[in-house]
Amino acid sequence: MSKKWVYFFANKQAEGRADMKDILGGKGANLAEMTNLGIPVPPGFTISTEVCKYYYDHGKTYPEDLKQQVDEALKRLEEVTGKRLGDPERPLLVSVRSGAAVSMPGMMDTILNLGLNDETVVGLAKLTNNERFAYDAYRRFLQMFGDTALGIPHAEFEKALEKRKEEKGVKLDVELDADDLKALVEDYKEIYKKHGKEFPQDTYKQLWAAIDAVFGSWMNERAIKYRQINNIKEGELLGTAVNIVTMVFGNMGDDCGTGVCFTRNPNTGEKIPYGEFLQNAQGEDVVAGIRTPVPLEELKKINEAVYNELLSIMERLEKHYRDMQDIEFTIEKGKLYILQTRNGKRTSQAAIKIAVDLVHEGLIDKETAVMRVKPEDVERVLHPKFDDEEVKNAKVIAKGLPASPGAATGKVYFDAKKAEEMHKNGEAVILVRPETSPEDVGGMNAAEGILTARGGMTSHAAVVARGMGKPAVVGAEEIVVDEEKLEFKVGDVVVKEGEWISIDGTTGNVYLGKITTVKPQGLEGEVAELLTWADEIRRLGVRTNADVPRDAKVAREFGAEGIGLCRTEHMFFEKDRIPKVRRMIVAKTKEQREAALAELLPLQKEDFKGLFRTMKGLPVTIRLIDPPLHEFLPHEEDQMKEVAEQVGITVEELKSIVEQLHELNPMLGHRGCRLTITYPEIAVMQTKAIIGAAIELKKEENIDVIPEIMIPLVGHINELKYVKKVVKETADALIKESGIDLTYKVGTMIEIPRAAVTADQIAQEAEFFSFGTNDLTQMTFGFSRDDVGKFLPEYLEKGILEHDPFKSLDWEGVGQLVKMGTEKGKATRKDLKVGVCGEHGGDPRSILFFDAAGLDYVSCSPYRVPVARIAAAQATIKNRK
Ligand code: PEP
Ligand code: MG
Repeated sequence: MSKKWVYFFANKQAEGRADMKDILGGKGANLAEMTNLGIPVPPGFTISTEVCKYYYDHGKTYPEDLKQQVDEALKRLEEVTGKRLGDPERPLLVSVRSGAAVSMPGMMDTILNLGLNDETVVGLAKLTNNERFAYDAYRRFLQMFGDTALGIPHAEFEKALEKRKEEKGVKLDVELDADDLKALVEDYKEIYKKHGKEFPQDTYKQLWAAIDAVFGSWMNERAIKYRQINNIKEGELLGTAVNIVTMVFGNMGDDCGTGVCFTRNPNTGEKIPYGEFLQNAQGEDVVAGIRTPVPLEELKKINEAVYNELLSIMERLEKHYRDMQDIEFTIEKGKLYILQTRNGKRTSQAAIKIAVDLVHEGLIDKETAVMRVKPEDVERVLHPKFDDEEVKNAKVIAKGLPASPGAATGKVYFDAKKAEEMHKNGEAVILVRPETSPEDVGGMNAAEGILTARGGMTSHAAVVARGMGKPAVVGAEEIVVDEEKLEFKVGDVVVKEGEWISIDGTTGNVYLGKITTVKPQGLEGEVAELLTWADEIRRLGVRTNADVPRDAKVAREFGAEGIGLCRTEHMFFEKDRIPKVRRMIVAKTKEQREAALAELLPLQKEDFKGLFRTMKGLPVTIRLIDPPLHEFLPHEEDQMKEVAEQVGITVEELKSIVEQLHELNPMLGHRGCRLTITYPEIAVMQTKAIIGAAIELKKEENIDVIPEIMIPLVGHINELKYVKKVVKETADALIKESGIDLTYKVGTMIEIPRAAVTADQIAQEAEFFSFGTNDLTQMTFGFSRDDVGKFLPEYLEKGILEHDPFKSLDWEGVGQLVKMGTEKGKATRKDLKVGVCGEHGGDPRSILFFDAAGLDYVSCSPYRVPVARIAAAQATIKNRK
């Protein structure tokens, strides 16, 4: 038996199903599913994505038996509709639309009204008793077919249409009558001729040209770009399907119309049907943002029965798919048709609210809810808003629709390519367009925010911006964009290219000038609830990297379960400390150095008390000094004098010390445990500060602390042995003297490849491990952490590396060291706690790996703690599978 390439659907029976997205595409699979559910879907058939793959694998040719299968499906379609393709009396008209397994809105081709020619148009006019409608459909088809299948510039047709309107002295398309449209059809045919193309009167040829065009659009520039931006890898999808569906018309009169609706508000997530409707119009009018539609509720006034039917279908579809649906519908002569349903794109805020609400409504379970939300969604809801004070004083110059929430500020650019370029130069850009089209996606992605003068909440700009999570204001109708002069006007305000504006996608306000954006603080409502579910699921602990009580407090509020890394040297850089640190560095004798350290001790002790107090009862890992000492000394001539005075030596002496400390490669130099091996006094002071703080807190405030003292940059067990001995002697003496029962741990960073490889030995001394994946990445790749900017961007561009390994863990290399280190460490010491405190601790893709590698916790910056919580829960679920 030959392979099945074509799937038919009509009259409550379909050959496909919702779970066949891979081969039918999202649109085709859902059309089939809805047909099976008995929802009013116009009949049609889907050519599978496997044909698309075949087409590209075989030099743009089709499987041999495809034609026969299409012919059969067409025949069935003609039977169920009682119409025939090309029949002058009862012509069948179809739409030919793309649809991949992953929705790529507007990126590929669509042709409507296929089947019209000089003869069938007459039949259509008779059949509908509406000549104007028939010729309007014909000229639209000529336009779409010419543009899509034959590559004739869209603008040419637009020009001809404008000319007709001008000659007649009218403004709107609907003011052209049947004769005007007939004339326009002839104008359009002339355009074909001018471009050396012929419009096929043969409707069967039209059909195959349209199929070719849709498969061809899979590889067009904007579709490829869209897949790049959305990280859809080559080979992940088979291709696009082609859906051939009987046309229904929303533009046959006032008892017709078309719209898009969401079962819940896609901006806020509220459980209120939401959408837009345009009377007497075809779907393309809405999506292109040419006419601005009215809110869905208006439909209730126009036709209450249809409105109620739509609402009940929306509810059914949402219950069936157990997710918020984005539905396209058309009303033809008072009859409702559903043309598409899919899981609706939504803002981050809505994604979280909907997931949580669906759990409360009993439609999904908590794990499903956690998996539905992207870690970035959680990050985004904690993200930019305008500075309250600045926004109060800012001038609102226009207001549009709040299409995608968040605040953005940047310089105005009117061209998507230019916006991309400026973004590459490091500029913050706001892309301002009359309306956006799929060609603009690159520029939209590069922009901080998007502003359009036209279009509604379901216009291209709105849908794409929401998907990207970019702030956007659309349909700001007071704005007049002049793309030639590179400026826009609102009343008498003129904003030129390169000038600053700010937009608020939550309110729709457009402001003149730059406004600082700030991150909102705190977790509440649905996000907080979702995160508690994530906490129930996840295996990995989540700690934070924090050096001061302020950061520790934010992190605790965000749910951190301890501090995984306190970089003590950050305390040394404080204004009141740095002179003392410098005196310690320039000391000529041990005594001098100890005197300087003695001055630092009480200050450090207070710092640690602050941290311990904030983290009350939770583990706190404190790392001994890490960076090379010359980082604390001045290198500029003009600072030398001041510092020399500060520390009581001559400028010459200071210069000579700076020279002595100079290193060719400080990243691989005298830092980490190497410093405390040379100057054990530093370790002594820091240990005294840590243990002293814990003792005092216990005595004074009855707070229990279990300090974890961490030794950085260990590569050999003997390094750890040496420093650990210093630490233990100091700590034990203090504890003994205090008479208090205090436990503490001494552990190490694993951030040198040798440490990972010999982790079984190192675990004999270390009571815990924390992977320093920043240094571990640096040393595994041999890339200097501070200099990668010179070549890494090109590595990524040229595909040499898929991810920046300093942002997202290199699974195959660095990751293997992490895995080996963990296994070896735990083999020696069963209860060894293993964490990670490099930047990767807050990166969802890296967290997935750490979970699989058997780490106990991740530690990340305070604002990433919520992201890490959700990512860790997702990792548990994924790795379980
Ligand atoms: C690391 O190397 O990953 C680390 C956490 O330490 P630092 O970034 O301070 O070198
Ligand atoms: Mg390090």
